[in-house]
Amino acid sequence: MEFINEEFIFSLIDNKKLNDKKLQRDIIEKSKEAKGLTLEECASLLQIDDQEITQEMFSTAKFVKEIIYGNRLVLFAPLYVTNACVNNCLYCAFRKDNKDLIRKTLSLDEIREETEFLVKTGHKRVLLVAGEHPKQSALRFIGDAVKTVYDANISGANIRRINVNTAPLSIDDFKELKSFEIGTYQCFQETYHYETYLKMHPTGPKKDYSWRLYAMDRALQSGIDDVGIGVLFGLTDHRFETLAMLSHAFNLDARYGIGPHTISIPRLEPAFNAPVANKPPYAVDDPSFKKLIAILRLAVPYTGIILSTRERAELRRELFELGVSQISAGSRTSPGSYKETENSINGYQMEQFQLGDHRTLEEVVKDCCSLGYLPSFCTACYRSDRTGDRFMKLAKTGEIGKICVPNALSTFKEYVNNFANEETKKVAIDFIQNEIENSEEKAAVKISKMIERVDNGERDVFF
Ligand code: SAM
Ligand code: SF4
Repeated sequence: MEFINEEFIFSLIDNKKLNDKKLQRDIIEKSKEAKGLTLEECASLLQIDDQEITQEMFSTAKFVKEIIYGNRLVLFAPLYVTNACVNNCLYCAFRKDNKDLIRKTLSLDEIREETEFLVKTGHKRVLLVAGEHPKQSALRFIGDAVKTVYDANISGANIRRINVNTAPLSIDDFKELKSFEIGTYQCFQETYHYETYLKMHPTGPKKDYSWRLYAMDRALQSGIDDVGIGVLFGLTDHRFETLAMLSHAFNLDARYGIGPHTISIPRLEPAFNAPVANKPPYAVDDPSFKKLIAILRLAVPYTGIILSTRERAELRRELFELGVSQISAGSRTSPGSYKETENSINGYQMEQFQLGDHRTLEEVVKDCCSLGYLPSFCTACYRSDRTGDRFMKLAKTGEIGKICVPNALSTFKEYVNNFANEETKKVAIDFIQNEIENSEEKAAVKISKMIERVDNGERDVFF
């Protein structure tokens, strides 16, 4: 726990000297180099109370995101395989003491059916999610589930990257998890504040703060080289959580030469029979949420920031502007719910928490285009061995954008050709044409050739 220094973090939050307009403007100016910020600099930005400086910070966050990744937004959907859980997290509907929850662990056939639903809507990336249970979410089951998802194929359309959000493992078990060919391993600390953590996780294996805090160390030591961290905002002071999560990111970067591949920023949503979720002790308001997202973007420019469908559509549009690089779309949070939604069965008594954005993937895609964001279904890095330090090197130098944008365009065209309705097709084709026209000449030739291959029926065209 030595890298989460609570006393030091609170001293930064309380240090009034850091609330200095000139200092804050200098920090924003420095962040334009996209080399990141120190913890103290982030603490100063957290204290900004001037509207004009806040806007300067927001536009700089957008600028930094675009010099690293371009205007692309990577799309994915969660796939819940079980809601069985032996933990008792006070904010989650899956907690053991919620006796009214209908428990379900999907069979491999049901996992295939759920995957086929997602494939049919055009998804290429899945985040596999599970409760923690020694039997229902045993490692062997996760392995079988991952294989089932990769194997599902409808006329050549399939899922090409599976990220996993499951309970922390030992080094040996992480080695086995890696052998399933997963993409990123995600695990959120929920809260970095020790006392709050103990209160929120009264029983079950998750009550061990350090086991969770060092999960990413064990994952990296086992050879998994893309890891994703996160905070569940609303459990304690968001300023503390932001600085503590950044301490974690800086520590991983210093020790392993790679920081977190992604940072997730879930806010507490109402959940069935979950007292803390229904009355968050430190609810984060929208203006503070926007600020902290912009600060994360400036502090760790190389890291993907993931925004889920917990947030409502209107706010999501504003948050894209602040440096978000990956979003979920068309999501459901209970096992089996994609198929059940098709059959109009209410999943409320099985879901983990309520969603804010209920739009379909197609609606989100169209909206992204109208806002000037390029929807990306690219999964190339992981299959081209651009993970871990290879990815980080490209991200830290901004080179990754040169790869992301052409790959985003070819995978988006594949989506448009195979899944979009006529109205979306029209918007998307104009959007793609515009992107090509605005690219440098050499890149435009390359992109046009890739798109020609896609139009000739080739799938999964990337470099
Ligand atoms: N059970 C594993 C665990 O807790 O690490 C796997 C992930 S859990 C199913 C997914 C994440 O959902 C949690 O890490 C937590 O941050 C988030 N979550 C739980 N309850 C939530 C709520 N009420 N609102 C928003 N997010 C919630
Ligand atoms: Fe179980 Fe994860 Fe929910 Fe906690 S957050 S009750 S560990 S599913």
